[in-house]
Amino acid sequence: MTEVTGGEELWQLTVEHSPVGTTLVAPDGRLLSANQALCDMLGYTEDQIRELTFQQITHPDDLAEDLALLDETLAGRRTSYRLRKRYLHADGHVVHGDLSVALLRDTDGTPIHFISQILDVTEAQEYAERLTETSRALDAQHRYLEAIVDSVDVGVAVLDPMRGYVVVNQRHMQLVELAHPDGIDGMSGLPGDLFAEDGTRLEAHELPSTRAASGEEFDELIIRIGADPLTQRALAVSARSVHGAAGEFSGAVLAYTDVTELVRALSAKDQFVATISHELRTPLTAVLGHLELIAESGDLPQELADRVGVVHRNAMRLRELVADLLLVAQMTDGRLRLTRLRIDVSELVADAVEAIRPTAQRAGLTIEVDVPEQPLVAHVDGNRLRQVLDNLLGNAVKYTEPGGEITVRLRQRVASTELTVTDTGIGVPADEVGQLFRQFYRGSQAARRQIPGAGLGLSIVRSIVEAHGGVVDVRSTPGEGSTFRVEVPVAP
Ligand code: ADP
Repeated sequence: MTEVTGGEELWQLTVEHSPVGTTLVAPDGRLLSANQALCDMLGYTEDQIRELTFQQITHPDDLAEDLALLDETLAGRRTSYRLRKRYLHADGHVVHGDLSVALLRDTDGTPIHFISQILDVTEAQEYAERLTETSRALDAQHRYLEAIVDSVDVGVAVLDPMRGYVVVNQRHMQLVELAHPDGIDGMSGLPGDLFAEDGTRLEAHELPSTRAASGEEFDELIIRIGADPLTQRALAVSARSVHGAAGEFSGAVLAYTDVTELVRALSAKDQFVATISHELRTPLTAVLGHLELIAESGDLPQELADRVGVVHRNAMRLRELVADLLLVAQMTDGRLRLTRLRIDVSELVADAVEAIRPTAQRAGLTIEVDVPEQPLVAHVDGNRLRQVLDNLLGNAVKYTEPGGEITVRLRQRVASTELTVTDTGIGVPADEVGQLFRQFYRGSQAARRQIPGAGLGLSIVRSIVEAHGGVVDVRSTPGEGSTFRVEVPVAP
């Protein structure tokens, strides 16, 4: 244990054990002493340090500044100074120090020596440098991202959970201007000239941004923006939630794609299909009427009668196709209206089966009917439901090989009617099942075997069933057969 005897000794002890490097420096720069902290910092023993000048342990680039301050102090213009400077370690590497210097003078003012204290700040300095570098890289990344987000033709907005905008690109700002000509003040979710696909004005809680900011995710939601129908744009909006490190909801990203041209083209297509189908119907009805008159006249030679028969069958197919197209156009317009009446579905099924039976027999197929004895009354559109049956039965006949069997089953469920059409036909590969109900979709087998069709039958089935609030599904095994199941509520 060191015994403390006086002020000077106490001072020495403090200096020796101080974590701050301390040295006495002669006015000419010679290092007169060094404590342990300074030796550790620079990699010399105290004896070695005593052989050096402070100029020798200073990084050459920082020397001039230190000398200037030193001269000012010697000249009496200041009594001390502080400086952040670089030192050279014995092995050559740079050490960053925070230097404080005070000049000690004797009673008549002659400089005796400088007392220098040097705090090793290398770690802090390196940390600060790394921080600057990281922040520079982040900044560059941010600017790249900004340039990318701004260069895309899609409106992009990032929202915080309070519906405030965190990021928006230029395209988004243009869209906002169209929807909110009076401005929005940095907040999303304000009602403006925003409309649903069918033209009804969207209320605040229905806006894509409001829904996204409350955590909902969606794809390709169609909205219209702008008050003037002439300049109105149609947008497809998608939203994704953003989550924090702990999984908490921390905002949402919205992307707005302008689909105005596409929507216009689609509606022009629907319009075209509707007009054409309508215009085709009138002459076809006349053709069919006259063909029937010719056939009924009975005085045709057999060969001619056969040819009239062929023409009649083809004209009938054409009429069915036109009717399907017209229906599809109405469906895509959202104009499929039902005329519901209380009807006996058992009777409807029996009629449909009797109508297809001759065709089925010609194709070498048998039809089984399993229908309840008592009437099964439902509040449905009879004509449309008949169409569902005709399409399903027609497909069962088309897609079953001779010798096969078709079974039609009708069941009363709690509040619905269930109809199934089962065949022992060619079936549908598993990867195609999900697509059967799409408009104009034709299965690979249908195309390969050249079975005629336009790919509309099942899409019509689905639209009619869904308009009734019902569901349709299918189970199928290639080579074994298929079961199409329709379930519609008995009351709307
Ligand atoms: P289309 O019969 O005119 O091709 P649909 O919309 O009625 O159009 O049917 C779509 C596709 O579903 C058909 O092309 C066919 O591949 C498949 N499909 C429909 N019904 C059956 C069935 N009963 N058995 C096997 N495949 C079927």
